[in-house]
Amino acid sequence: MGDQRRDVPGTDRVLAEPEVAAAVQRLGHDLVVRTIREVAQRARDGLLDPPAVVAETLAALPRSASGLRPVVNATGVLLHTNLGRAPLSRAAREALQVAAGTTDVELDLHTGDRGPRGASAVEALVQAVPGAEAAHVVNNGAAALALAATALAADREIVLSRGEMVEIGDGFRIPDLLTSTGARLREIGTTNRVRLDDYRQALSADTGFVLKIHPSNFVISGFTAEVPVGELRGLDVPVVADIGSGLLRPEPALPDEPDAATTLADGADLVIASGDKLLGGPQCGLLMGRAEVVHRLRRHPLARALRVDKLTLAALEATVRGPRPPVSEALHRTGLARRAAALADALAAAGIPAEAVESEATVGGGGAPGVALPSAAVALPTRFAKQLRLGEPPVMARLERHRCLLDLFALEPDDDEKLRRAVVAAH
Ligand SMILES: *Cc1c(COP(=O)(O)O)cnc(C)c1O
Repeated sequence: MGDQRRDVPGTDRVLAEPEVAAAVQRLGHDLVVRTIREVAQRARDGLLDPPAVVAETLAALPRSASGLRPVVNATGVLLHTNLGRAPLSRAAREALQVAAGTTDVELDLHTGDRGPRGASAVEALVQAVPGAEAAHVVNNGAAALALAATALAADREIVLSRGEMVEIGDGFRIPDLLTSTGARLREIGTTNRVRLDDYRQALSADTGFVLKIHPSNFVISGFTAEVPVGELRGLDVPVVADIGSGLLRPEPALPDEPDAATTLADGADLVIASGDKLLGGPQCGLLMGRAEVVHRLRRHPLARALRVDKLTLAALEATVRGPRPPVSEALHRTGLARRAAALADALAAAGIPAEAVESEATVGGGGAPGVALPSAAVALPTRFAKQLRLGEPPVMARLERHRCLLDLFALEPDDDEKLRRAVVAAH
């Protein structure tokens, strides 16, 4: 044991190994040194052969300085909140890289003076949404609601139908958010029915605005009635519509999903939406509509506390101006059944009990509730789910009727080979 302790290499010697030095570049000095010391201690304790210290250190180091890892989304839920909702387009990823350095986010290069922050992202939105005179971007959809409630209805009333008192997920209730700003809620109608007259009778000098919230994660069916934005426009108070999913214009693949352009054309003064749902961009909240209303929001002191960083602005602009992001690619892709069959065949050839099956994918993340998207999957025994999750890269499958389904809906054709290797490794 005494001999063994003398043979344990010192920290500096381990640091001088080329692969360890490269890890210092990637992960920072402190993290690598801490790992070397832990591994060396194990060697001194006789739990490890001294010559193995370098290899063991490299194995114990994380892959990157961030704990977040890329995960393959084979759940068939296009916008999976636990997987960070929308994956960004290549154009948006490149824009992130550029914006990560110093950038002209708040500078006019022609004059050398300070310019409006994120002007080109805002301009992209205004150009993409007919009827939007102005736009403003905040941290997420919830922040957009909070800003609208604070700036337009603090100490006043927001008129809202009972059927639109929505809980989004993880206990987040929109009515609670609204009242936390100091606005009061004036609930009208019943859970299943509301009429234009209910709105009319609720209006008073105290009304800040009428709010329409898209029920983005449930459907009320049967004996129901709601009042569309088009009928509220004549009420002579601002109409704010939270459409949730962030479609800027109609999406033919989801004909019942509201979009910003149509909602503004119908007469909304302000539309609120998330950036990382069906728009397919980074997490942010979009506020679009009449210039006078948007400017009131932008000038409110709270706007500063909700403002987005340069990375978000860059990724948002590239999403809006650039090629179709992965989310809308997925909505229009064909050939899923053929891909599932090929993948199942390849796995069967490796002795794995895999079968191609039809599947129903969903939009998820607050979009198109109740809409089943035709998809295809590879079915495996359930025991694969955990192995795949713990693999490299981790794969999230869907457990359904005692099977582990690898749903291809959210995946690009290039991902199939990644899936095949992951399943073989999990076997
Ligand atoms: C998702 C959603 C929100 C919240 O948006 P976040 O970007 O998650 O903060 C608010 N309203 C509706 C209708 C939604 O679907």
